[in-house]
Amino acid sequence: MFIANSFKMRYCIRILTFLMIDSDSDFEPLTRTKVICTIGPSCWDVKIMKELADNGMNIARLNFSHGERSQHQESIDKIAEINKGRHLKVAIMQDTKGAEIRSGDVEKKIVIHEGDEVVFSPKPLPNEKRPVIIVSYDGFAKDALETKQILIDNGEIYLEIVSIEKNGTVIAKAEQGGEIGSRRHISLPGADIDLPSITEKDWDDITFGAKQNIDFIALSFIRSGAEVESVRKLLEKLKSTSKLIAKIETVKAVENIQEIIEASDAIMVARGDLGSDLPFEKLPVVQDEIVCRCKDEGKPVIIATQMLESMMEFPMPTRAEVTDTAHAVSTGTDATMLSGETAAGAHPLLVLKAMKRIHKATEQHLARLETVYDIRFSSKAEEEMDSAVKLAEEQHAEAIVLLSDTGRTARNIAKFRPNIPIITIVSDPVVQRHLTIVYGVYPLYIESTASDEEMMDKGVELAMKIGLLHKDQRVLLLRDRANKPEVVNL
Ligand code: ATP
Ligand code: MG
Ligand code: MG
Repeated sequence: MFIANSFKMRYCIRILTFLMIDSDSDFEPLTRTKVICTIGPSCWDVKIMKELADNGMNIARLNFSHGERSQHQESIDKIAEINKGRHLKVAIMQDTKGAEIRSGDVEKKIVIHEGDEVVFSPKPLPNEKRPVIIVSYDGFAKDALETKQILIDNGEIYLEIVSIEKNGTVIAKAEQGGEIGSRRHISLPGADIDLPSITEKDWDDITFGAKQNIDFIALSFIRSGAEVESVRKLLEKLKSTSKLIAKIETVKAVENIQEIIEASDAIMVARGDLGSDLPFEKLPVVQDEIVCRCKDEGKPVIIATQMLESMMEFPMPTRAEVTDTAHAVSTGTDATMLSGETAAGAHPLLVLKAMKRIHKATEQHLARLETVYDIRFSSKAEEEMDSAVKLAEEQHAEAIVLLSDTGRTARNIAKFRPNIPIITIVSDPVVQRHLTIVYGVYPLYIESTASDEEMMDKGVELAMKIGLLHKDQRVLLLRDRANKPEVVNL
């Protein structure tokens, strides 16, 4: 009885201490799991954008499905300005439109009730009495033959197909009604859309991004490794340093996942469209499988869509959203993404802070667990970094500090998901920004110096200055490019 009570007491004290430290005054923007924020009307104001940067936005995402190029250019310029005064940079991600189907622009939202018959047409039908939804694609009726349902905005509204007409229209009956604004997502679950994954607009946008060496170009609706390789050829032709992220959002992409991971620099699990194309109950398993495969291949992976969706409106997330985000973190995803929450929601800063708090709490919890996944290594260099991470854990090091030319050593360390920061000193600003996406890595820029030793000293000094390291801390140093690990007290 006494033992049980004292155990309970200790347990309660622990929980209470935990709850007490979890207050906004202890808010900590540096988490090992990175955060990507979509830029839109709610954060175009440079003051808000800067606040997002100060509170842990690692990457700003520009969605080329929306907005004009000039507007995206303005966002790129604002981020460049914000980066000027910062040691931990914010990288930029361009997200292409891809082979998506959207509804047309409307002046007034179209209201649909359960049981209504609705006409989907690529052209306006002025004499039609039933509600008409314009679709952005002529082959819609042909692709609709491959499915029975139409989902709008990833299933907020869904309809059963009644008939497919010779004139290229599709008649469907609403099972769940709602309001349809401009440019809403339309999906035909399971149908392999007869559009090229990379459209004319995409090639044009990718050329724009690649010429500016945008840090990451995320390719929407990728279905094969060959498609990623075709974009890589363009990057090579343009001598661009941009990195390629394949967005997994179709059943076809899941079938070809291994070749897509191998062809890409990183992967995004784009759960909105993926969860419409797959039966939704399969999504959690597919998400975890993709994360595991990316970790095995040492490729960064992002979990995206509806992570804290309710915060578009409310100042606090639902408990289910908190648990979903924590799940992504505990499986060791490199980054989570905010979409409408920061682009068009009521609380862009609050939602970023909420996400960081969930990351922090989950990462602290993870530090007490043993490594769950057995990550395989595929090279001598990776095996050495696995040993270095184990040494850091055994010796209770509080950080790993290394020099990296190309970022590879940092990625090799991150692959084994140490529970401590990986402070990476680089002398190439491009490599610095490319490392923003990698789990646990804090990339710091130091101008190239004659000796490794001098660079390491300057790097440690800067890390101390900005609070990443402290005096007397125990750290694992990879002192020079030979990467021999050594545990020292600062
Ligand atoms: P995707 O499937 O590519 O993610 P989306 O429509 O879901 O497309 P998000 O990037 O997730 O777009 O952003 C959510 C919402 O934020 C958009 O639907 C849009 O209303 C708004 N938004 C995002 N970027 C912009 C922009 N550049 N200009 C205007 N609104 C934007
Ligand atoms: Mg898109
Ligand atoms: Mg989205």
